[in-house]
Amino acid sequence: MTARSIAASGAAAIAALVVSLPLGAQQRSDAGASRPASVQPSKFTRAPMIQAPPSGEVEILPIRGHVYALFGAGANIVVSVGNDGVLLVDAGRAEMSDKVLAAVQRLQREWVVRNEPPSSGFGAETRSSVADRHITAPPKPIRYVINTSADSDHVGGNEKLRNAGHTFTGGNVAGNIADASEGAAILAHENVLSRMAHGEGQPPLPADALPTDAYFVDFYKLSHYFNGEGIQLFHMPKAHTDGDSIVQFRGSDVIALGDLMSTGSYPVIDVAKGGTINGVLDGLNRVLDMSIAEFRLEGGTLMVPGHGRLVDSADVAYYRDMLTIIRDRVEDSIKKGRTLEQVKAANPSGDYDTEYGSTTGPWTTANFIEAVYKTLGGVRLKPDTTGSRLKPDTTGGKPPAPAKRR
Ligand SMILES: [Zn+2]
Repeated sequence: MTARSIAASGAAAIAALVVSLPLGAQQRSDAGASRPASVQPSKFTRAPMIQAPPSGEVEILPIRGHVYALFGAGANIVVSVGNDGVLLVDAGRAEMSDKVLAAVQRLQREWVVRNEPPSSGFGAETRSSVADRHITAPPKPIRYVINTSADSDHVGGNEKLRNAGHTFTGGNVAGNIADASEGAAILAHENVLSRMAHGEGQPPLPADALPTDAYFVDFYKLSHYFNGEGIQLFHMPKAHTDGDSIVQFRGSDVIALGDLMSTGSYPVIDVAKGGTINGVLDGLNRVLDMSIAEFRLEGGTLMVPGHGRLVDSADVAYYRDMLTIIRDRVEDSIKKGRTLEQVKAANPSGDYDTEYGSTTGPWTTANFIEAVYKTLGGVRLKPDTTGSRLKPDTTGGKPPAPAKRR
């Protein structure tokens, strides 16, 4: 095979893989086709656009309208850039915040250049020449940072991004007026605020990194359009944690999913922080209710998971189905009285492990199965040796209620 034919077959394979991807994704893949070394998929189960940017780099993906995604800074970041300024969903890891800020500033500058008033080409001295002098307004500031959870790879950049930004008082910014001019507002569910304020499981955070505005009801919305569209946060109770938000950009039809979904792994269910498998499934079903496909489940509403690639409703439905199947298998085993070790040995996720499983790293398949088992009420740590091997557990995993006294 000549080098040319290898390149051609590589390009054909890529074209076949991206055919079902949304337009923005295709454009990005096509742009990369001249650099086969960086876009070759490592496995055919993964489309080339899933490839993470080189370590330590932040990559910008235009999604639709004013909305962009930044990959490579820890958790994925969704950015809205426009006339009203900048809003970010999640802030990435602390050590990446300079690069995130550089990417945001690049988008801000590009926005200014694209929206520069056209030259009038008018030569008379009586006419103002302001437009001809190319005096451009300074970039609009970062005004909001939204945290979808309290994880350090989502909130690590809070402090730097907040201090690079600016809050305008009024609207629904309920922050302290005295410090309102000092930085962007940080929005999150109140469980995220309390967790960050108490430093649970993380080094203590400086005050500037904490959310300035927390909500405690089912949803929170910016009270007016931002960059030409409504933006709404929805609380996903008991999903990845008890404080997750998803963020919907209603005009652009884009939803930031936070850690409700990760295209390369099983969802991280943080049981200690209130996460449950059924909460994740409820959240994914809610996302499917909110999204509308363009044609036969493809395209339409686009979603950015907390980790991994851009997805559409077909991807979310597949992920939801996969988790439902595994949940049902584990639930069935719990009803049969099986212990966690027996459930793990039965490998209820076996047919999905090549795509989502892991035996190393912070979130292994075993961690996932354990979280599913525990949050479905599975409590048995030792096999039942009192009777038949498969003695049914009629308690649903809960300890039996104490007998009533007469
Ligand atoms: Zn995450």
